[in-house]
Amino acid sequence: MGTVVDAANKEANRSLADLNPTVVFVLGGPGSGKGTQCANIVQHFGFTHLSAGDLLRAEIKSGSENGTMISNMIKEGKIVPSEVTIKLLQQAMLESGNNKFLIDGFPRNEENRAAFEAVTKIEPSFVLFFDCSEEEMERRLLSRNQGREDDNIETIRKRFKVFLESSLPVIEYYNSKGKVRKIDAGRPVEEVYESVKAIFAPKNEKAD
Ligand code: ADP
Ligand code: AMP
Repeated sequence: MGTVVDAANKEANRSLADLNPTVVFVLGGPGSGKGTQCANIVQHFGFTHLSAGDLLRAEIKSGSENGTMISNMIKEGKIVPSEVTIKLLQQAMLESGNNKFLIDGFPRNEENRAAFEAVTKIEPSFVLFFDCSEEEMERRLLSRNQGREDDNIETIRKRFKVFLESSLPVIEYYNSKGKVRKIDAGRPVEEVYESVKAIFAPKNEKAD
């Protein structure tokens, strides 16, 4: 028999599916510039930006019962169980009042991807992939200065390993379906954004 929580989740999935949302997954290694470019896309193309990492960090701050588990996993650069992340994404999508979403840093592995599609019945329109060398990403993360506990060299190396082993296969999966839009993210911010803009424009441009 289903619990009250199961019933609430089913209801959330129904209302999300009713929204018929446009979803773009934004993927790339840690420090490849996902957050930076998402801020630009939001300004010009009317999307709501949902960063899985930011949602998890907000969940820790809120004093949730999962906080300690999430915090320990982030310190180790590990992938948090998908039921936690998917629930946070669903809530944020429903609360946004929008139906166009940039989902940044998710799905992080095959299990994340399959669970999200199974639970929400949402398929991404496409996947924006920020391709950047580890050397450049490491340089950026070590000078990010946001006081993040995972921006230290030891955790950064673990995050790179998780990205290569678990997240790249997700990008390969979508590539085989012709859904990946790859961007050379090793260039200056403005140049990267020119390439990003070319992918979103003109179909989605907000009227002034
Ligand atoms: P991600 O969200 O992929 O982890 P961020 O957008 O937070 O990456 O970027 C990581 C750091 O690198 C930030 O300090 C950001 O200001 C900087 N940064 C982002 N894009 C570029 C770029 N194209 N060139 C140089 N620095 C960048
Ligand atoms: P980010 O802010 O994207 O760099 O993510 C920071 C950390 O949060 C990651 O190293 C993971 O530990 C955790 N995290 C972020 N996104 C996810 C996700 N989609 N699934 C599980 N864990 C995640």
